[in-house]
Parts: sequence; structure tokens; C-alpha cells
Amino acid sequence: MSSVAPTPTRSRDGTAASLLNDEERARIRAKSAQFAPPTAAMPDGRRDLVGLSREELTDIMVEIGEKPFRTKQLWHWIYHQGATDFSRMSSIARPLQEKLAERFVVGRPGVVTEQTSQDSTRKFLFRFRDGQEAETVYIPDRQEDRGAVCISSQVGCTLSCTFCHTGTQALVRNLGAAEIVGQFMAARDSYGEWPSPKGDTPRLLSTIVLMGMGEPLYNYDNVAKAMRIIMDGEGIGLSRRRITLSTSGVVPMMDQCGAELGINLAVSLHAVRDDLRDEIVPLNRKYPIKEIIAACRRYPAASNARRITFEYIMLRGINDSEADARELVRLISGIPAKVNLIPFNPWPGSSYRPSTREQLEKFANIVMDAGFASPIRMPRGRDILAACGQLRTESQRLRRVARPDDGTDAAQ
Ligand code: SAH
Ligand code: SF4
Repeated sequence: MSSVAPTPTRSRDGTAASLLNDEERARIRAKSAQFAPPTAAMPDGRRDLVGLSREELTDIMVEIGEKPFRTKQLWHWIYHQGATDFSRMSSIARPLQEKLAERFVVGRPGVVTEQTSQDSTRKFLFRFRDGQEAETVYIPDRQEDRGAVCISSQVGCTLSCTFCHTGTQALVRNLGAAEIVGQFMAARDSYGEWPSPKGDTPRLLSTIVLMGMGEPLYNYDNVAKAMRIIMDGEGIGLSRRRITLSTSGVVPMMDQCGAELGINLAVSLHAVRDDLRDEIVPLNRKYPIKEIIAACRRYPAASNARRITFEYIMLRGINDSEADARELVRLISGIPAKVNLIPFNPWPGSSYRPSTREQLEKFANIVMDAGFASPIRMPRGRDILAACGQLRTESQRLRRVARPDDGTDAAQ
């Protein structure tokens, strides 16, 4: 693990300054480990090769008496060719194919449902080996033959942002690296886009956004492992520039993500005053706006070519005034950034209303006049409940896990 500079933060009472350091990150990861996924093995004991790092794959090959170079071959078949059947791996001799098939599988999550919206957005409900479920959405570009895969990182979420449907569901567990990579691979199966296109070849599944269910920075280790597999040039080979992680603002892990993965960052800001953000994004009580903005300013992968996205959900009469827009511009001034304005997508039981079109445009113009791109994110796949914040499954927590004990019901 690379060392990341300590970052200043507000103490719990909001006054004195204290230092966030490796200890804070260790605490977050220890908490995250309580929600660990089950081991990636079949009931008959065969182990899933998907989701292993190259080093782990090599160790396993050595364990069964094979040479380390098998890793390169298997990696090619699994992640470049998309093969799930060892008998298709023609560069591997038949006896070894059989030996591998006795001990291992190349798995995929089960597809419970696959729905395609009138606007071509496709939503998958995947089921994992322990029966837990998560949703993945493919959002095609309207003009070109490419699109984004919106991936989930957890089943449920520990955070309870008041506008978010996922937030009404307690965290069941983290998704493992195999399950995170598996969402992408299964979506690629559905579009028949194997072998993985190389270099500049156009790709339907051309970008990844970690914006599905869950808070990816509260499942950092599995997310990081999965992204390293996806970025590996001999397999899926998606560049770090084509991957965006969205966080509600887990400041210490933002530093680590920037230092280690260098992928694009999106921050769910949604409010410009701490009193309001404390209410709608309760994690703000732990990592307030000032610290989030400071973490964005030092995010290493940000540049004019790779701007930080600030996501801002437009809630009528709550956070959508012109004064809010001006304060937003002041807060982010000097950051290479764009502001994604998200019309609130209502879900059954929510009490917010989307901002009016007129207010959305007024807000967008203020942000744009200050020099920031401010696209309004058009809801996609509404008819199949695939739009932002509408993802939720019926998966329930099987066991109660101790609730956070640090005074904010939000912090993990
Ligand atoms: N937990 C991470 C990533 C998943 S949420 C995060 O919060 O950033 C992905 C995005 O969907 C966030 O910007 C979130 O604020 C937004 N979202 C949640 N509920 C929504 C809703 N009802 N309508 C529109 N966007 C919503
Ligand atoms: Fe969790 Fe993100 Fe939804 Fe907040 S918006 S409850 S952090 S998934």
C-alpha cells in the first residue's frame, strides 16, 4: 500500500482540528471487513478464477504443480476472450483443460432479470452465489456506439442519504472483486462484445461508472482489486481515464484512491452548506464540505483534461436556489471540475420533488457562466427503474451486524 499524506479534519464536535492518518483508513477498512463477501467457491469446492489478481492466479497454478506462465494464458482466455469454458481454451492442452475444470470455474453472476428500456438503457439484476442480489445498468450513448456500465459496489449501503432509494436498504454486505468484475463481464456477455476490443477499436461497453448501489470507498479493497483487473492491458484493458468512481465523500479513502488507482472522481456534493448537507448526506457530519473540497483540490488524477465531477441532485425548494448556485461556484473555484446536475428521480415513498425546468436552467446558467460545464443529466431507463438512485433490491440482511458506534449513524 502506498503511503498517503495525512489530511487535516474537523473533530466530532466540529471545532478543533485533528489529523486523519493511516489509522483512520485502517479503521474504515477494518469496519469494511465485517461486511466481507463469502469466498468465491462453488458448493462442490471448485474455486472461481475470476476476481483473482495475477499474483494469486500464479500462486494457484504453482499449488497445482503448473508453471507460472499459465497465468498469462488463462488471463488472456478469461479477460480478453471472455471464455467461461476451459475446453474452449485452445492454447491449453486437453489434459490440463480437464485438470483445471475439475478444480476451478470461470464464473459469472446469475442473471435474474434483464430489462431493456424504451431508450435502450439495459438493467440487469444479478444474483450471487449466496443468493444476494445487485443491479447493474448499461447506458448507451445516444449518438455513438459506446456507453457506460454503471456498477454496484455493495448490496445496500450503510449511508442513508435521504433522497436515495438504495439508502433505504441497510448494508447487507460488500461485493467481492469477482462480483464487481463479474457485473461488467456479464454485461459484456449480453452484448456479445468478446474478445475485448483492443486499443482504439470502438467499444459498446466503453466506460465504467461506479455509481450503482453502495459506497465504493467503503469497500475500497475489493473495488481496487476489481479495477486493477479491469485496467490490465492484456485483458479487458479499460484505461483509468475511462473509469469514474462516485463517492458521497469518504475523505481519507479519496486520497488513497487517487494515489493508487488514479481513476476519475465524482463527488456527490448535493448541498453547499453543512447544515443542509448534514441532513441529506449524513456522512457530512463526519467529513464536512470543507474537507471534501480540500480532498478534491489535492486529488492527483484531476487535470483540465480529467476534471472532477461534482454531482448535484436538484431538489425543489431545498438546494436549488440561485444563491446555492453562486455558493457552489465559489466553493469549487480553481478546481478542474464540471458540475453534473441531476434531476431528482422520485421513488415510491420519497417526499422530495424535482426542481422545475426553469430553476434547473437558472442554476445551470450560473454555474456555466462561472466557467464550469454544467450538463443536466437526463434520466435514463426511468420506465424500468434504472435511473440514478432508483436501484434497490429485495435482498435483506441475513444477520445483524453491529451498527456504527461513533455517534453519526452514517459513518462506517
Ligand atoms: N454512493 C455513491 C455512489 C452511488 S450513488 C455516491 O453516493 O456517490 C450514485 C449517484 O446517484 C449519486 O450522485 C447519488 O446522489 C445519485 N442519486 C441517488 N438517489 C437519487 C435520486 N433519487 N435521483 C437522482 N439521483 C440520485
Ligand atoms: Fe449510499 Fe450513495 Fe445512496 Fe447515499 S447516495 S445512500 S452513499 S448509494
